[in-house]
Amino acid sequence: MTTDTAAQAAYVVAALLFILSLAGLSQHRTSRSGVVWGIAGMVVALAATVGLASRSITATGLVLIAVATAAGAGIGLWRARVVEMTGMPELIAIMHSLVGLAATFVGWNGYLDVDAELSGSLLGIHHAEVFIGVFIGAVTFTGSVVAYLKLSARIASRPLTLPGKHVLNIGALVAFVGLTIAFVARPNMGLLIAVTVVALALGAHLVASIGGGDMPVVVSMLNSYSGWAAAASGFLLANNLLIVTGALVGSSGAYLSYIMCKAMNRSFISVIAGGFGTPAAAAEEGEQGEHREISAEETAELLRDASSVIITPGYGMAVAQAQYPVAELARKLRERGVEVRFGIHPVAGRLPGHMNVLLAEANVPYDIVLEMDEINDDFAATSVVLVIGANDTVNPAATDNPSSPIAGMPVLHVWEAANVVVFKRSMAAGYAGVQNPLFFRENTQMLFGDAKQRVEDILRGLDALDSPVREMAGTSG
Ligand code: NDP
Repeated sequence: MTTDTAAQAAYVVAALLFILSLAGLSQHRTSRSGVVWGIAGMVVALAATVGLASRSITATGLVLIAVATAAGAGIGLWRARVVEMTGMPELIAIMHSLVGLAATFVGWNGYLDVDAELSGSLLGIHHAEVFIGVFIGAVTFTGSVVAYLKLSARIASRPLTLPGKHVLNIGALVAFVGLTIAFVARPNMGLLIAVTVVALALGAHLVASIGGGDMPVVVSMLNSYSGWAAAASGFLLANNLLIVTGALVGSSGAYLSYIMCKAMNRSFISVIAGGFGTPAAAAEEGEQGEHREISAEETAELLRDASSVIITPGYGMAVAQAQYPVAELARKLRERGVEVRFGIHPVAGRLPGHMNVLLAEANVPYDIVLEMDEINDDFAATSVVLVIGANDTVNPAATDNPSSPIAGMPVLHVWEAANVVVFKRSMAAGYAGVQNPLFFRENTQMLFGDAKQRVEDILRGLDALDSPVREMAGTSG
């Protein structure tokens, strides 16, 4: 068997392993094995690619590959070990930017190093591949960098609203089509530089125009773009595995974006076109009224007297790492006969499934963790809702203020409960940068401070309430 045949066979095996990996990752229970299949696929793919390359490169080239692989693996292992769960989306965004950058370089290399055997229409196809690869790669690169900056709060998450922003986006697409035709007819470096600049600007502008509330969709959309960028590189390098893998990532990312758009009641086209058709961000809503505060001890009393409690966690619970005391609180209340359930919004936190993973880590039983649709009708019959570090996902403006930037996004109807206690450190807005009228409702009270410390205070408060001495002394906030 020649090296080429062996490598192609290995590519088929790797492609199958990637498909198994995706299937495994689609369910909580099988996700660990999904990761293992993915690692195995990548090892096979890397070995086959190096084997193929070793036929035609010098010893220095092989040493360079070894150094690059070791450096890449080292950086990857280091980042994966140190990254906080809350920092995952930004890590993913910056990794997508590398895929985009690599695709841009592969495209440029395809122009600078044209196979001498290509001629006629095949040469035309090659040049179209170069151009498309550079375009998708450069859009993915800058789009991912801007997403990284937004997700890591290095720049504001508010949407950028340049005058005529949709005309700019459509103009860039029209310019791309025109430049592609010109490049295929007469390839030259000037046109390639022009499309690179247009694509870099378009990627940055598209993602900068998308508001914070829609960022989950942007992350999965960039995932999809990076897949298509890899597939474009696969065509240029005549590498079947890259084409298959790129198509898998591209289509699964697009499908995930579609599912998330449906879950958030957003138009898919509107989000990927940089917020096309969404209402302009409402100006500051102005005075909302007075908010009321509650102490941890008073919250403990409220919980002692409650018959049913729903906890709706959000990003703040993850930041505070409050899942362990929250799980303990749920356990204690259930022991007292209180019905306790968790309500999980599909985009709570900073990545899909974020809250479920944290609660599973703290051993909260699966059967009391309910999805938004399963629990939304039950708030009205609930004594107390604890909103722990969540904000956008419990914002009533999404349902009753059509001019709100998050209008139409399904939210947890926490305000329908008899009492709502909101845990946060200040009156600051959530990720989407929108004020939350929930905080000013009559049945809402704010419990300020770090979520973990406040939940621990409540646990102590419950213990104190159990103690007869404190009870007789009539302890209060
Ligand atoms: P939000 O970001 O809307 O709100 C988080 C709240 O937690 C803030 O109000 C903050 O208030 C509070 N908080 C932060 N740290 C602490 C702490 N240590 N203790 C107590 N409170 C704290 O979070 P949600 O989960 O409600 O909503 C998710 C948002 O993130 C949505 O807008 C969603 O679109 C977006 N998003 C989601 C992604 C996903 O895939 N799930 C990906 C990217 C973005 P304060 O600062 O006053 O304490």
